[in-house]
Amino acid sequence: MGFSTDAIHAGQKPDPVTGAVITPIYQTSTYAQEELGKHKGYEYGRTHNLTRQSLEANIAALEKGKYGIAFASGLAATQALMSLVKSGDHIIVSKNVYGGTYRLFELIMKDYGLDFSWIDTSVPENIENSIRNSTKLVYLETPTNPMLTLTDLAAASDICKKHNLISVVDNTFMSPYLQNPLLLDCDVVLHSSTKYINGHSDVIGGIIVTSNDKVHERIRYIQNAIGAVPSPFDCWLILRSTKTLAVRMERHVQNAMELAKFLDDSNLAEKVYYPGLTSHPQHELAKKQMRGFGGMISADFGDTEKAKKLLRNVKIFTLGESLGGVESLISHPASMTHASVPKVERERLGITDSLIRFSVGIEDIEDLISDINNALNG
Ligand SMILES: *Cc1c(COP(=O)(O)O)cnc(C)c1O
Repeated sequence: MGFSTDAIHAGQKPDPVTGAVITPIYQTSTYAQEELGKHKGYEYGRTHNLTRQSLEANIAALEKGKYGIAFASGLAATQALMSLVKSGDHIIVSKNVYGGTYRLFELIMKDYGLDFSWIDTSVPENIENSIRNSTKLVYLETPTNPMLTLTDLAAASDICKKHNLISVVDNTFMSPYLQNPLLLDCDVVLHSSTKYINGHSDVIGGIIVTSNDKVHERIRYIQNAIGAVPSPFDCWLILRSTKTLAVRMERHVQNAMELAKFLDDSNLAEKVYYPGLTSHPQHELAKKQMRGFGGMISADFGDTEKAKKLLRNVKIFTLGESLGGVESLISHPASMTHASVPKVERERLGITDSLIRFSVGIEDIEDLISDINNALNG
């Protein structure tokens, strides 16, 4: 099936009792058992919930995987993945991942005996050169947040296969519509469904997709054993949202491309980071492994006061964390999403105090462009 057909139908059947076309919110903590040892496969809400199962099957289909395992947040999903490794193991991580991932690994999981190497995975040889006897997992994010650096997923998964390492890709910035790491031979895909997948800025959620039976078995066990499960209502909201994912992503990509060109051509910004611009150092790779360039742009305005003026004066863009919603957001990574990364480290990554990140929404592009123009020139 095509993406949009799967998005609307996969994992969902009309309700057998009433024929309701939309999967109901099974808002229940427990289920009636017919007699001792005889039930319908549903025993307790943390373990089994049909709204959640429908969502998991739906997103698994969109990511071309066998299994989906849903969590209460993207970080809960990342934390669950840590159950694939144990004390003494070594993990290789893309160096400018989402700030919360950095915090979870470096400030929490390290205390449990895990060792992390933060490397520039945009050069695949760096992955190979960082492998130790204790390396178990490679955690990639592409494009990265907020610098929009790409990692060649086919090259990375090749290295991981050769060395028997689990390859994980945080695919949040692309959504399953624009990039499918499993088709490039990666083992595990992770999403903060809070972002594009839900897309309406009203749910916190996470999901892991894999076709690997062993990984699935372990993560499914952890989902129940640790219990960071999403509520039935949140699952229902996300399931409603995936139906429009294709049309939303088309518009996000179209708007972002126009805005990136505007920022670049008008010289309002000193440097524009967007994989769709031919000036992006990995533009060719972007064309190869992504079906569109995404809705995220970062731009360095070269001067902190100018960046602050923009943040202060925009009227349509909302100053806020997060991304991937229908409404446009603007943020200041150095003091917001990446505040927990030490300043010297931030500067090394390019996250200067004059760097602004745009999550381009699906409003009318003319309005978004004049909003930025007015904010800077008004
Ligand atoms: C937001 C985000 C996360 C964390 O997800 P939550 O749903 O906020 O827990 C992880 N990775 C990326 C790329 C994100 O943008």
